[in-house]
Amino acid sequence: MFYISDNEADHIAAAQTIEDRRNFLIHLARTANLPLLTKHFDGSIRYCFNCRCIKPDRAHHCSICRKCVLKYDHHCPWTNSCVSFGNYKFFILFLGYALIFCIYVAATSIEYFIKFWQNVTSPQQDTSSLSTSGAPSAGKFHLLFLFFASVMFAVSVSTLFFYHLYLIWKNRTTLESFRSPIFIDGPNKNGFDLGYKQNFFEIFGSSLLLAILPVTSTGDALIPIDSNTSYIDDRGIVTQSNYSNTGDYLLTR
Ligand SMILES: [Zn+2]
Ligand SMILES: [Zn+2]
Repeated sequence: MFYISDNEADHIAAAQTIEDRRNFLIHLARTANLPLLTKHFDGSIRYCFNCRCIKPDRAHHCSICRKCVLKYDHHCPWTNSCVSFGNYKFFILFLGYALIFCIYVAATSIEYFIKFWQNVTSPQQDTSSLSTSGAPSAGKFHLLFLFFASVMFAVSVSTLFFYHLYLIWKNRTTLESFRSPIFIDGPNKNGFDLGYKQNFFEIFGSSLLLAILPVTSTGDALIPIDSNTSYIDDRGIVTQSNYSNTGDYLLTR
């Protein structure tokens, strides 16, 4: 995040007109040489009044976490935290592992589910292997519940999992898939698309082994900021910058 000083934040808050505020933000971004490709829908530099910072591209304020988050995807109510730049790989792996586990449980319990169902539809076959195996009758219902729960979770998790694989393929966040980021030449849903291979590397790194393990592997595949990229200062002026896209900065001039 590009944090600004208290004086500058007060200056922005006290701006008489939107134009004054806009011009001051442009001034801040230009003098600090910020690498900003996207802008607010009204054409101004994206600024957070709560965090008092200029938002890097793809960062958004989470009203539940009460802070700006890099590459914000969504706020997950299950883990009560944001899914964002720092934990997106682990979120995808969690979905993938959960899906494999649900399929495994469903596959290993389907045999007993079928036997239970045969028992219900043909009571005369009550001497089935399920009964003779010593499983108490309450256990049959546990098996029934286990099978249904695993199938239901497999369906819901796979929906989310494959949707996020599609987003990775396109290099979009969930938020960007609903609201296109605005670049110099207008809204563009595919503005961050680097090709499916680089998009994958950006999340998982370039090692396939490390990609499927729950370890940090993103660092070796971050896209470097280079001089060929045009950074917006809201007037179409190209600037260059040495900032990386992963840290917090207090703007100093
Ligand atoms: Zn914020
Ligand atoms: Zn959050």
